[in-house]
Amino acid sequence: MTVTIAVYPGTFDPPTCGHMDIIERAATLVDKLIVGIYENPDKQPLFSLEQRVMLVEEATTGLSNVHVKSFKGLTVDFIQQVGGKVMIRGLRANSDFEREFEMALMNKKLAPYIELLCLMTSSQYQFLSSSLIKEVAKLGGRLEGMVPDHVAVALKDRFSLPSELATGKGKV
Ligand code: ADP
Repeated sequence: MTVTIAVYPGTFDPPTCGHMDIIERAATLVDKLIVGIYENPDKQPLFSLEQRVMLVEEATTGLSNVHVKSFKGLTVDFIQQVGGKVMIRGLRANSDFEREFEMALMNKKLAPYIELLCLMTSSQYQFLSSSLIKEVAKLGGRLEGMVPDHVAVALKDRFSLPSELATGKGKV
């Protein structure tokens, strides 16, 4: 029996409900989904690699075929190391297509045996990005429905805000 292993790579700084939607949908399409969190030396993430792994792990505890791993170096090399043959990416209208297309062509040259599977964002997450979340969190905006609750709390801790403000679950 062939087992289809897919990898969903990204920075996940922090994971959002947009990422979670892609993870949940991709997990129904393959036998095993590995969320690959990269250490990118060119980016200064808000959360360390270990923190991002923990945040995604907590968000995916209910999904039995989803695993979380960190990696360095080329994504296609990581996919090969874990025995994957599919790369998952999420696409938001306008903002992602050009970049994803360029990367896909390069990855195809580097590793022709890996297929790219792009899932369209769900409309409610179309305008959601980790960078926008960080801006809103920094200014004390509510993140309800945009990130998992534990991520809202981690953001609140990082920016030292009262937790009810971050999750929107406290008193107004
Ligand atoms: P990267 O640095 O690789 O862009 P991200 O964590 O920002 O890492 O994104 C990882 C993947 O998730 C990318 O394919 C990105 O397009 C996708 N993604 C991010 N936000 C959303 C969203 N709101 N809806 C769907 N896909 C998304």
